[in-house]
Amino acid sequence: MKYMDEYRDEKSARDYAQLIGQIVKQKWNIMEVCGGQTHSIMKFGIDQLLPPEINLVHGPGCPVCVTPLEMIDKALHIASQPNVIFTSFGDMLRVPGSRNDLFSVKASGHDVRIVYSPLDAVGIAKKNPDKQVVFFAIGFETTVPANAMAVLHADKMGLENFSVLVSQVRVPPAMDAILSSGDNIIDGFLAAGHVNAVMGYHEYFTIAEKYSTPMVVTGFEPVDILRGFYFLIRMLEEKEYSVRNAYERVVTREGNPGAQKAIYEVFENGDQKWRGIGNIPQSGLVLRDKYQKYDASLRFFVQDIRTQEPEICIAGEILKGNKKPFDCPAFGKECVPENPLGATMVSSEGACAAYYKYRRS
Ligand code: SF4
Repeated sequence: MKYMDEYRDEKSARDYAQLIGQIVKQKWNIMEVCGGQTHSIMKFGIDQLLPPEINLVHGPGCPVCVTPLEMIDKALHIASQPNVIFTSFGDMLRVPGSRNDLFSVKASGHDVRIVYSPLDAVGIAKKNPDKQVVFFAIGFETTVPANAMAVLHADKMGLENFSVLVSQVRVPPAMDAILSSGDNIIDGFLAAGHVNAVMGYHEYFTIAEKYSTPMVVTGFEPVDILRGFYFLIRMLEEKEYSVRNAYERVVTREGNPGAQKAIYEVFENGDQKWRGIGNIPQSGLVLRDKYQKYDASLRFFVQDIRTQEPEICIAGEILKGNKKPFDCPAFGKECVPENPLGATMVSSEGACAAYYKYRRS
């Protein structure tokens, strides 16, 4: 398959791993931002191909994992109301809140539906004018354009029975927060190519220079990831604190201006809580005042719901690179993918779930 097979070529992957081994001279802590990259690293054994000088830190880039527990509780509360059709991508249905999950709300007779696009939810609202239809709008910059389009369509159609429960996050402020924390150990980032396909990577230069931390934009196939590591280690060894693009077939420096226009028509930057990490200033995309009538949080009066994370969970420390999943006493015991206690076991892209599935212990 073109654009797939050549990036899974074993010889190319091994060649890059060998090149990395030849240039690396000291220990480096590298964070791959995206959970999709974490998953590929484990699945293809990239962590076992890399030289021991490279310590991998698995970043917070999994949308399901970083959605705060209290947001799940808000979704559960709204979905349990009479006359509501609650719509969501499928992977959010099994994420446990403090008491149950959306699947169990559906099983108890409430109308919870899986959709494949936010626009499907708008279509459901149009067909059901006597119901309130809510879409669970979570995710990174990759999914936000479609969420914005749904709000714009609903607005154009004058739909008064559609709203969105918003928990959207931006990568650059999270990188800044990680690098500025007192216990930061990160020397370089592999940036998430799909986010950069939408937003470009022009914003990253300021952060790379401010913290003397190079970044390489890359993709999700083994050769993409290893090429990204090669660029990054070379930059670190040569003290080049800048940004490079190793995903040229998809990403440009400026990104997709049409998608960015849709995002910022409907949303604006605002403070956002990340599960396992806490509040990061200006790291969210929140509804502009003009579109607040579509805010499900206000429509259903759930803005004050607050929930504490389980105390045993050390996901926050894992996301900062201070601990590995197997350092958690609950890993593989009380906490497994079928019964996740914390953010990073919830989705298959989470670090704990990837370590569990690919038996890294
Ligand atoms: S194994 Fe479970 S409880 Fe432990 S850090 Fe990972 S998600 Fe949290």
